Amino acid sequence: MAHGVVVGIDLGGTKILTVAATPEGRILARRRVATPTGRDGVVGAMRDTVAAVLGEAGADGPAALGVGAPGPMDPEAGVLLEPPNLPGCENLPLAEIFRGYYPGAEVHVENDANAAALGERRFGAGRGVADLCYITISTGIGGGIVAGGRLVRGAAGTAGEVGHMVVEPDGPQCHCGLHGCWEVLASGTAIARMAREAVASSDGSGAAIRAAAGDDPPDARAVDAAAAAGDAAALRIVRAAVRYNGIGFCNLIQLLSPARIVVGGGVSRAWDRYIAPAAEWARQNAFDRPGRMCEIVPADLGDDVGALGAVAVALGDGDRGVGA
Ligand SMILES: [Zn+2]
Repeated sequence: MAHGVVVGIDLGGTKILTVAATPEGRILARRRVATPTGRDGVVGAMRDTVAAVLGEAGADGPAALGVGAPGPMDPEAGVLLEPPNLPGCENLPLAEIFRGYYPGAEVHVENDANAAALGERRFGAGRGVADLCYITISTGIGGGIVAGGRLVRGAAGTAGEVGHMVVEPDGPQCHCGLHGCWEVLASGTAIARMAREAVASSDGSGAAIRAAAGDDPPDARAVDAAAAAGDAAALRIVRAAVRYNGIGFCNLIQLLSPARIVVGGGVSRAWDRYIAPAAEWARQNAFDRPGRMCEIVPADLGDDVGALGAVAVALGDGDRGVGA
């Protein structure tokens, strides 16, 4: 366990959020910058934000430093491989680079969804649990799995891609190439697609969604507003998303028997509409004992989940396990 200041870096395609925190997860300082283009820009911005948060926290160097970054990557070596939304960062050895800047610090790098799972596990809604699924339902559906106190990476390091489990073989095609992935049927993007289809239909059934969207393109928020007013087309879309969320949760319970499924992401903010009925369905349709033993709860860390996840990564949770 590290003593002193721990640094977590949430490296995304559009922004970098870096925090200095205590090992208990109390944030002492934070910096958020837009992600520059190109390798040198990205590394330089990361280094500058780390120096800034350390300065504000009154620390010379981090006791430990963690990065949550988009995959694919090699977490053991701490190398980004070919992250599609970070052009120029192919084969970037982040762990080695930051060990060079801070020779005394322990440095770890992890896939962002796995980092978020570790963050909720250590500091958020997954505290105290050794068998946990973390799922984020926003523009896509991503996740991370902790089983028996260990982060599950799989042989290829890609385990936890819950959003690309097929839940409807004859469903629409996903950007990954498969048909009927959970993500293409129940993510915020999927809800927006169904909303556009309803608005475009010639029978006028999408009028309430159209009105709720106002001047913006119809999206999940417009569906939510129209559904709250009892609109039939919006409720049909909600039912479809709930059905696939339920199948996804049920499959996770059957496969892993988690003690807790922690659900975050923008869509989950409409918990009673999109998540609660799906959770209920999943727990009732899974095998009796694992169904009863699985809680499905909202994520706790909000917009800090990536950065606090990186703090958990810094503390070695990805490589050493989280314990029980
Ligand atoms: Zn897919």
